[in-house]
Amino acid sequence: MRRPMIAGNWKMNTDLASGTELAKGLASHVAGKDSSVDVLVCPPFPYLQAIKEAVGDSGISVGAQNCYFEESGAFTGEVSVDMLQDIGCDWVILGHSERRHVLGECDGTINKKTKAAIAKNLGVVLCVGELLEERESDKTGEVLDTQMKGGLADVSEADLSKIIIAYEPVWAIGTGKTASPEQADQAHAHLRNWLSSNYSQAAAEAMRILYGGSVKPSNAEELLGQPNVDGALVGGASLTVDNFGPIIDAGR
Ligand code: PEP
Repeated sequence: MRRPMIAGNWKMNTDLASGTELAKGLASHVAGKDSSVDVLVCPPFPYLQAIKEAVGDSGISVGAQNCYFEESGAFTGEVSVDMLQDIGCDWVILGHSERRHVLGECDGTINKKTKAAIAKNLGVVLCVGELLEERESDKTGEVLDTQMKGGLADVSEADLSKIIIAYEPVWAIGTGKTASPEQADQAHAHLRNWLSSNYSQAAAEAMRILYGGSVKPSNAEELLGQPNVDGALVGGASLTVDNFGPIIDAGR
């Protein structure tokens, strides 16, 4: 039985006051409820420490939206795994489509970051997903295979336990267009098959695979009810308690 995770990617949104208020609101939302779902929030770098404090002992984890693969040194503007762990981060999102397609990150870089994070036991939410034109030309499976192979190159089966995969079709991110529950489940099953072929059946069964792409309270329950969907990575709807709260509840 895979434990569900509901993760919020705040992207480049909020400020110190609104982020702190959101984190406190979420901490109140989960208080006293059963803890059968992992909850993760990923605020912008400057607010990580404040948000970590604001979620307190609610059980909500805090993660970053990126990291660099080198440990320290002359890498202006970058943030290391050690720095993230120093301020209490448990997770990092890597390979998000905005980093791939807006900021030009390739599988090789994502792989170096993934290995740097897991080497220090920082959990990785590794995002994969196809563009609209790739889906329309029946290349979804091929794109997912390439991103999995590239992102997980030289990652051992034992280390897979520190990784969660997020399937995020690019055409569904921030567009209001959600993959149908069947489309999501089919892509997740494809990813699980890839894990089974390239690692083992046990690794495939153990891997948590989150769906991301315009998840909202009105569609969360159906998406999360799919057999291969183990949670959600939520962008826009993670920015208010009114939206993220019910999505967390749908994961229970
Ligand atoms: C995301 O950024 O990971 C995402 C899925 O965004 P949204 O929920 O807004 O589509």
